[in-house]
Amino acid sequence: MSKNLNRFFISLLFVIILILCGCEGLQPLGPCLCKCSEKKLIAGYSVLNKQIDYSVIGCGSKKSILVIGGIHGNEPKSTVLAEKIKVYLSTNSFLTIKRTVVIIPAANPDGLAAGTRYNANGVDINRNFPAANRVNNKKNGYAGLTEPESVIIKELIEKHKIDMIISIHEPYGCIDWDGPAEELAHKMAGHCKLPVKKLGAMPGSLGSYAGVTLGIPVITYELPEAVGQMNDDTIWHLYAEPIIAAIENGY
Ligand SMILES: [Zn+2]
Repeated sequence: MSKNLNRFFISLLFVIILILCGCEGLQPLGPCLCKCSEKKLIAGYSVLNKQIDYSVIGCGSKKSILVIGGIHGNEPKSTVLAEKIKVYLSTNSFLTIKRTVVIIPAANPDGLAAGTRYNANGVDINRNFPAANRVNNKKNGYAGLTEPESVIIKELIEKHKIDMIISIHEPYGCIDWDGPAEELAHKMAGHCKLPVKKLGAMPGSLGSYAGVTLGIPVITYELPEAVGQMNDDTIWHLYAEPIIAAIENGY
């Protein structure tokens, strides 16, 4: 092989390595796969000092999407689906080119361990946000953001400049929305049998805070009661596609 040909192949190899692994200035040439890999991080700690993990997947130049599971501890299948979505996205990095997906599969680990809706202080995390419609009481918290679990979600929204939120719940079997997300809700419903349904703005909920107060599209993705009897793979096959489509298409 001639010296020139050798140089050509070495240069080619160098460019490929740059594209794959250090490609800040070469983004237009291709996805920066190193930066797209999953980062497993600690968001903080629950009332009972349980670690709350989250993952950041993707390259994030176009859209930043937050996916939450288990904000209510008695809705464990929401955590199952969020976990599976995390694994799927981290092994299919082409889905997250030009977007960042922040996933917290178990936002209320104390409630999840105890099988209760509330956190260890008896507060509903999804009523503890500083929305205009909040109602202060024992179950909602006597002020917004009194609980570490709600503070964590608020901080992730700010830190990652989130511009779409999908919060997975049970058991109402519908796609609810808050803020500028009606069109998104209908597009997601096109990928499954769940109907679009407005459940109403709950006081101090994430939908009321992030959707109405901050103006971020918020989907409350309510799995049906039947998921309680389904195995994890069936839940994945029936209910993952709308969420994956919203992420992939950046609706
Ligand atoms: Zn719920």
